Amino acid sequence: MDGRYLIRTFGCQMNEHDSERIGGMLRADGMRPARDVADARVVVLNTCAIRENADNRLYGNLGHLKPLKAKDPDLRIVVAGCLAQKDQGTIQERAPWVDVVVGTHALPHLLDLLRRAEREGPQMDVREYTELFPSALPAARDDAFRAWVSIAVGCDNACTFCIVPFVRGAQRSRAIGDVLAEVQGLARNGVVEVTLLGQNVNTYGRDLSVPGSSRRSLFAELLRRVNEVDGLRRIRFTSPHPHDFTPDVVEAMAESEKVCEHIHFPLQSGSDAVLRAMQRSYRRERYLGWLERIREAIPGIAVSTDIIVGFPGETERDFEDTLDVVERAGFDSAYTFQYSPRPGTRAATMPDQLPKEVVQERFDRLVTLQERISLERARGQVGSEVEVLVEGEGRRGLSTQSRTRTNRIVHLAEPFDPGTFVTARVTGAAAHHLTGEAVPTPVLA
Ligand code: SAM
Ligand code: SF4
Repeated sequence: MDGRYLIRTFGCQMNEHDSERIGGMLRADGMRPARDVADARVVVLNTCAIRENADNRLYGNLGHLKPLKAKDPDLRIVVAGCLAQKDQGTIQERAPWVDVVVGTHALPHLLDLLRRAEREGPQMDVREYTELFPSALPAARDDAFRAWVSIAVGCDNACTFCIVPFVRGAQRSRAIGDVLAEVQGLARNGVVEVTLLGQNVNTYGRDLSVPGSSRRSLFAELLRRVNEVDGLRRIRFTSPHPHDFTPDVVEAMAESEKVCEHIHFPLQSGSDAVLRAMQRSYRRERYLGWLERIREAIPGIAVSTDIIVGFPGETERDFEDTLDVVERAGFDSAYTFQYSPRPGTRAATMPDQLPKEVVQERFDRLVTLQERISLERARGQVGSEVEVLVEGEGRRGLSTQSRTRTNRIVHLAEPFDPGTFVTARVTGAAAHHLTGEAVPTPVLA
């Protein structure tokens, strides 16, 4: 196909990763990226289904595309990702100007679907099984120095609020050799940082072990093997489940010098009653105990989390338990969400769905508390010297944006090329970023 494409990505890193592959396939087919929608022959909306506003955004965006399609029937509109998998035929019923609906498992077939749409009209593929990992497809990356690497897709848990197992299916891990071959290839091409991706990364490999065996996770082994890849400097991973941070994983992190000192440790709630109703396998004290063990093993590690406010039946007392755990855990940062009922999940039909005002009021209190803690944690960094990796131009007159191993953003006054490692002294702190200056490297005599 010739012409230009535009991809709009919603949702999590998994979707960012899939979008790189969508761009990669379109480029391999002869297309080039467009600057805006007016310039595009193919527009892809890569969607998220985690919260309700994601649905609303998709149909809002499709509404904006309708007059463009009416004016230019050659424009091809594609809906990909989790909402495509969830809403399936409903999308083309509600928006008949959509040419292709491609579910999460059907991504490798995108080009075929586009071609068939040219000849035969609207197409949909929402098959239930992944034959090819998206990482095996060509990629169009924004950065030459860092990359996502998918290690598993799907999730075997059944958290009662979550739509992911419905739209991404059961966990399927990629063979360890395939992951390593991809990381080695990336490192040879100048990538210095990889982020290993999965819905529940630390159960990686359970589905690969021999049937009837102990269904052992291979995540610790994978970390150690990726750590040996020459040329690579930083390894990250997301998202893990607190329950699966087994001692062997913590040990592998502590002993692998390329694994960054940052974990995402999703709490969801600090109330035992709510955790039980969410079908999360841990309880508050256990969670805090695990966190203490990790901090002992990896000094200076930064911790981020996910928290849902307003789960059905959450009382004021339950919410105060969440505030208490947040205070005690001292997270560096938190993604805070208002509970959003997802049709098909168990929580959506639970009694005691909370009124919006109650959820909003609790949410605001949680955000205020976490902002204070984030700021305190950031201030603790002032005066320290850290290794940062330059990502690109900074905002608001600050020259350069860079990132520490602990995943903190540092704005530097001096310009540097993306992909450069710099030693920086932290000079200032805000809740969501640090400021710093480059430390001159000593000139060798
Ligand atoms: N696998 C990850 C885990 O177990 O932590 C979560 C992946 S999910 C894409 C990211 C976050 O979205 C979850 O951790 C949760 O906090 C939030 N989330 C999921 N479903 C939600 C819902 N129905 N309402 C509000 N937030 C939700
Ligand atoms: Fe969803 Fe994460 Fe729970 Fe899996 S572990 S069901 S992805 S919240």
